[in-house]
Amino acid sequence: MQKVFSMLLLCVVSFSSTAQNIQRPKLVIGIVVDQMRWDFLYRYYERYAENGGFKKFLKQGFSCENAFIPYAPTVTACGHASIYTGSVPAINGMTGNVWWDNQLNRNVYCTEDSSVKTVGSNTSLGLQSPRNLLTTTICDELRLATNFKSKVVGIAIKDRGSILPAGHSANAAYWYDSKTGDWITSSYYMTDLPSWLKNFNAQKLVDKYYKEGWSTLYPLNSYTQSTADEKSYELRALGSDAKGFPYNLSRFAGNYGIIASTPFGNKLTTELAKAAVINEELGADGVTDFLTVSFSSPDYVGHSFGPNSVETEDIYLRLDKELGEFFNFLDGKVGKGQYLIFLSSDHGVAHVPAFSKEHNIPAGNIDMQKLFTDLNASLKAKFGKGELVVDVVNYQVFLNLPLIESSSLKISEIQEWIIDYLTKQKGIVRAFKTSDIPSTTLNARVKEMLANGYYPNRSGQIQMIIQPQWIEGFMKGGTTHGVSNTYDAHIPLLWYGWNIKAGKTNREVYMSDIAATLAALLHIQMPSGSIGNVIHEVIK
Ligand code: ZN
Ligand code: ZN
Repeated sequence: MQKVFSMLLLCVVSFSSTAQNIQRPKLVIGIVVDQMRWDFLYRYYERYAENGGFKKFLKQGFSCENAFIPYAPTVTACGHASIYTGSVPAINGMTGNVWWDNQLNRNVYCTEDSSVKTVGSNTSLGLQSPRNLLTTTICDELRLATNFKSKVVGIAIKDRGSILPAGHSANAAYWYDSKTGDWITSSYYMTDLPSWLKNFNAQKLVDKYYKEGWSTLYPLNSYTQSTADEKSYELRALGSDAKGFPYNLSRFAGNYGIIASTPFGNKLTTELAKAAVINEELGADGVTDFLTVSFSSPDYVGHSFGPNSVETEDIYLRLDKELGEFFNFLDGKVGKGQYLIFLSSDHGVAHVPAFSKEHNIPAGNIDMQKLFTDLNASLKAKFGKGELVVDVVNYQVFLNLPLIESSSLKISEIQEWIIDYLTKQKGIVRAFKTSDIPSTTLNARVKEMLANGYYPNRSGQIQMIIQPQWIEGFMKGGTTHGVSNTYDAHIPLLWYGWNIKAGKTNREVYMSDIAATLAALLHIQMPSGSIGNVIHEVIK
């Protein structure tokens, strides 16, 4: 008995000494603010609350002031994947939100998966999983490091914003069903929603938010952007007849998709994040858990109203308050200093071209859909075959490879002809074969970003570069992102909490460094496709 007891004691002693050696936070929280430009930190700095979210990061945490995306296209799926895989599309395979798959010979959505079923509703919006992501995420690595004792939960209105961060071995990823107003998942993760989530859905918060409507947080004339509001080049996401603030949302009752284009999409996301921490008991035991949260609504609002609108300003002022409340919640629930939190963005956004032009800054729109149609018509006239191009997406032209192979046409001739055609189009600066990226005379940074975005089976055969400040589509107003320029590629990167220094660096770091830095902080292996470096300035 004595012997058994001393062996037990030995086990306890050696276990606790291990626990002392490898120190980890109770909970890691990764926040992505979809479409947040770095300059939004300072554009509204004076209006952010002293006890709010952004100033907590900036004053008590660490800010990487020059964090960049190391690849193009700068879109949502690539961004969420890069942050959490510490990698780039050339390795993790996330070449866009959608791409043409050269082997399947059809369009593919980044997280589509027809082998799974929706869990939580009867719609098809749950047919999603991380299967198209080719490498592990930092969350997978945490699960591997703790023999799957760590819990990982992903949350976002957008499916890809939830699924890609949480990774392959996540316990759950939840996203929003815009047809039912409920949070759902897929059979990839579970067969039934947990009862706490069913109760959460039963509250029908969206109906409640619609009744409240959207008024500005502060008097309208106090807004930085109030003189530049209600322009004809804003897309009217909240009704074509809507005349700005205050927005009556009650008329959208039953139309659950609209919530994403209001700040209440963020509120709904935060409420679910809190409920997940409580009910999944995240950070409650001695094993580190990981919660990934992506705020999708700033992207919807930004696309529609642009970065220079009261709508965008208001959504950031509100998000700031909400993040502050989330910090307070985490302090109470997990404990001050017991959690590690970072905030970044999946990409920035361009100014609305019409706004730029109004201020004599060169800008424009390229109608890629029209270009796609016109290109095929011109190719038919020249080569005698229709549909030689199957897609124009991610600033790339995808050729109909099976058709070309089965014909007597020479692919190089078609490519040369298309390149010539494209470079004659207004707003297109360059066009070249994606296989020629290394030998094309390009700025070194742009070259590297394009090479990092190239994955043969999921990339086109011809790459376009468009003029600065020009955007693809949005012909009737609004704006977008996707190119290598600073407005799309310069992102905020903020850290706070467990083992994080207070301070900032102006050294250039990359989105792909985030996962490597987390791996160093947590003493776990970096993700399988990681190309990032540890941002050593962040770590105490
Ligand atoms: Zn996005
Ligand atoms: Zn977007």
